[in-house]
Amino acid sequence: MKIENLAEDTSDFTGNIWKLQNNGKTVLIDAGTGDSWNKVRKLEKIDKLILTHSHYDHVDNLPKITDKYSPEVYAYNPENLPKKASKLDERDQISLAGLKFEVIHTPGHKDDSICLYSSEEKILFAGDLLFPEGSFGRTDLDEGNRDTLIESIEKIKELDVEKMFSGHDEATEEDVNTQIEKSLEEAKKRESKY
Ligand SMILES: [Zn+2]
Repeated sequence: MKIENLAEDTSDFTGNIWKLQNNGKTVLIDAGTGDSWNKVRKLEKIDKLILTHSHYDHVDNLPKITDKYSPEVYAYNPENLPKKASKLDERDQISLAGLKFEVIHTPGHKDDSICLYSSEEKILFAGDLLFPEGSFGRTDLDEGNRDTLIESIEKIKELDVEKMFSGHDEATEEDVNTQIEKSLEEAKKRESKY
């Protein structure tokens, strides 16, 4: 499974856009905003698009992507999106480029936040719940709630994660379970980065 961040070199502030490519399928996790579109629009096709939550920096390119590629779009709460999407629920299974992922509802940063986990590959798409090196999603925005965020991280802590792809920052493969434990500790005591 090849996973790449299409938002890596963008100058505008945007959430990451993770591209999964396998079995001739192209899947995006989040849509991004700003000049990240210049990279997205060069793709040959997009089969599926999953939105980790409905904050602007993760969904703004959705209408452009839908108009150009007509992918299947999925989110926890489609009503929060500017375009039609199918609903994902807690513990749903979804196949992304041939790999099975489980949907985990993880509110606290935003009510419609989800993580996606592959037990087969031990891959986690963390959205804005968790970031590398003990960081975690901000809880000072609308719908933010630190206690709820802590409960969500506790759910993720039960998983065995080897590779984590967050909504911001780089991917990490370095002792990820320990990083998640650190995020949980930090969430219990200090202010967040995003
Ligand atoms: Zn966010």
